[in-house]
Amino acid sequence: GQPVCECYDCYGGTDCSERSPGCAADADSGDPIFLEPFWMQNAAESSIVIPGWHRMSYRYEDNTMMSVELEKYIRKLHSIVGNAITEGRYMVFGIGSSQLLSAAVYALSSENSSSPSNVLATIPFYPMYKAQPMLFNSENFQFKGDTNSWQSYNSTNNIDVIEFVTSPNNPDGELKKSVIGRKTIYDHAYFWPHFTPITGPSDHDLMIFTLSKLTGHAGARFGYAQVSLFHLCLTLARYYTYDTIIYRWAIIKDKDVYEKVLNYIFLADLGISKDTQLRVLKLLKVAIEGDGKPLFEFAYNKMRERWEMLTFVFSRSTRFSIQKRHPLHCNFFNKTRQSSPAYAWVKCEREEDDDCSAVLEAGKIISRRGSQFSADDRYTRLSLIKSQDDFELLLQRLRELVSLENDSI
Ligand code: PMP
Repeated sequence: GQPVCECYDCYGGTDCSERSPGCAADADSGDPIFLEPFWMQNAAESSIVIPGWHRMSYRYEDNTMMSVELEKYIRKLHSIVGNAITEGRYMVFGIGSSQLLSAAVYALSSENSSSPSNVLATIPFYPMYKAQPMLFNSENFQFKGDTNSWQSYNSTNNIDVIEFVTSPNNPDGELKKSVIGRKTIYDHAYFWPHFTPITGPSDHDLMIFTLSKLTGHAGARFGYAQVSLFHLCLTLARYYTYDTIIYRWAIIKDKDVYEKVLNYIFLADLGISKDTQLRVLKLLKVAIEGDGKPLFEFAYNKMRERWEMLTFVFSRSTRFSIQKRHPLHCNFFNKTRQSSPAYAWVKCEREEDDDCSAVLEAGKIISRRGSQFSADDRYTRLSLIKSQDDFELLLQRLRELVSLENDSI
């Protein structure tokens, strides 16, 4: 019979379940739907029901805006996974980690508008680090580009720098370290066993995590920042001279940083949704069951399997290459393993293919171009964390592209 209503693009058949043959594979967004089957298997345990009268207040009974119970579970999760030190740290919840990225910049920024803080990141970097400071157009901080072009500048004076360190990095999965070594914001969105071996707990002064890439609930919009009680900022002034290395220590009163992050969340939104906090609590209770093994094994196995298939396709290509991965010892799984990043960072090797995203698009693959990450368009990013359907179509289109190459030899 005829379809009752129109199907979405790319789908047809009577119940809209058949993919049209010429359909493009969409590997653009970082939507973490690969975890959906895990939550389907755990549907009952992870569900919540909220009666109409529940949690109507701006605050909890203890007058706080953040659930103490939820904070307890987050700390427990980190101690099970071993990916972050939580002792001696304040915690602030935000609407996704996105909100905390700008709260952190605000909290670390100079209070002197005649010398605004310079916000930096290392290319290739997540576009939000640049877009948010540009939107806010503050007198106290300005986005100033790539850390690498700032290393030599720093030699003479005390320039105020706030550096985003994304570890593992979006888009290339690298475990990044600070380049400038002053005030840092560690974005650990992907620092979970699905994507990287956990070599030890991260111990930085300001670390940001998100539920989006941990359980896959990007739609819940929940993130948190951990701010240390005492912020010990080591400035290695190795630029001064080659034979004198000067170490300077500055103690920034970190209660200040914490209070500013908190104040930002308060002024921007009067805190975050209590419904969300309740849902996140329920999800984390399931996440830590069996010491986290069911969730993290599911997630890691899925990513590992996708990387194995992807690596095989790219091993047959000379036209396209992907990033090298590094095996490291993972304390959580207690074995040495490869990283399994959320994204493939593809390089087009042929001279004439200087717009790699366009080359893939001609092969019916939608990717996110290098310039979105302030990198060269010879690179482009493929998302590997979408649904199984999306991933399988991506593989099929990649195989087709690579086989064209081999036919022409
Ligand atoms: N940081 C990085 C590196 C990301 O890739 C993302 C999402 N793609 C975020 C932060 C923001 O995620 P959310 O606001 O959903 O927590």
